[in-house]
Amino acid sequence: MDYNNVFAAKIEELQEKGNYRKFKNMSRVQGKYPRATYRPCKYSQSEITVWCSNDYLGMSNHPDVVRALAETAGQVGVGSGGTRNISGTTNYHLLLEEEIADLHGKESALLFTSAYVANQTTLATLGKIFPDLVILSDEKNHASMIHGIQDARVEKHIFRHNDAAHVEEILRGIDACRPKIIVFESVYSMDGDFAPIREICDLADRYNAMTYLDEVHGVGLYGARGGGVAERDGLMDRITIINGTLAKAFGVIGGYIAADARIVDCIRSYGRGFIFTTSLPPAICAATLKSIQIVRASPDMRARHQERAGALKQKLAGAGIKYRHTPSHIVPVVIGDPILCRNISDALLHVYGIYAQPINYPTVPWGEECLRLTPSPLHSDEEIDHLVEALARVLRNKACNDLLRAAPMESDALAALLEAA
Ligand SMILES: *Cc1c(COP(=O)(O)O)cnc(C)c1O
Repeated sequence: MDYNNVFAAKIEELQEKGNYRKFKNMSRVQGKYPRATYRPCKYSQSEITVWCSNDYLGMSNHPDVVRALAETAGQVGVGSGGTRNISGTTNYHLLLEEEIADLHGKESALLFTSAYVANQTTLATLGKIFPDLVILSDEKNHASMIHGIQDARVEKHIFRHNDAAHVEEILRGIDACRPKIIVFESVYSMDGDFAPIREICDLADRYNAMTYLDEVHGVGLYGARGGGVAERDGLMDRITIINGTLAKAFGVIGGYIAADARIVDCIRSYGRGFIFTTSLPPAICAATLKSIQIVRASPDMRARHQERAGALKQKLAGAGIKYRHTPSHIVPVVIGDPILCRNISDALLHVYGIYAQPINYPTVPWGEECLRLTPSPLHSDEEIDHLVEALARVLRNKACNDLLRAAPMESDALAALLEAA
């Protein structure tokens, strides 16, 4: 057995399809969001503007959040030193869980290493608690939920994206006595669309099912206090379990669930991905608590975020650039070809100092490759204009496009091509 050959062949397979991932070395600059320093190689660097971060509000850079992190680390050190059960629970963890529960109007909340782990562990654990559970899952659900559902090892049904009628059709076919849960997201991260939360809650009531809502792209950004889309729509109390992240709008790290105390107690007591891992550093909890408090009290920040997304959409439309019309803050410019998408992204970065990561399979289906743009309250009019002009130049030129579609190009060749175009 030549193990190395197998590894090499798997990598080659990705390279041929244009799907091999190269990470870009990008350091954001404290206090200058959305600016960052890009290091294409060891000996060179340039200043660029980030257009694809999930740090939606720039909270990772907020001076009060940074200070809370530094001050707490100064007081109690860095690592937590253990799992929650063995010396790793601090007042910072408990205060943060209390804040999260309150944000979602729930009795209780539970912290995890990330929202990925929160989804995976919670859904897997529900399968252990209810061995005859039936899971109904939106076809576009995030990988972390798919992972958790697989680990739950119970009967599952995939429903068509955001299709409440399909949910009902499936519910009608399930024995009324069996436990059921409908698993979905409030804002779909790649399409930028909202789920029909109310219709799904109505169905859950009618068929006595639980609901599990991933609000990862909604928390901090929607609702009067940033409780998410379910808060905006007055539906938080109708969701059985709300999942969220502390790493996107709140700008730090970690994830959670919020629910009735008894449910949280069960996941706390049975969830392996909660029990058998070191808890978050207390300083991280303190910084996150500060971030949530600021974001909750800043409806102006949420309004500005939406205003910036609207301004970007309007300018893209004005320049004749096709983007997916989303009702949310996520603005996907669909390119539809993995190599073209990557070359366009490289051209933006190396020629125009704009960073928009190409989103390719498996994050999106084949043919839906896109640049997923995420304007923040801190992106200026000038930065929007610069992005739209650069995109227009790259997309408009047919000859240039054919070349960009043909094969991956080096950055020097890209620069020369665009100069000639
Ligand atoms: C990013 C993401 C997650 C995972 O969140 P992390 O805190 O980064 O692990 C979960 N669900 C959705 C829909 C996401 O986009």
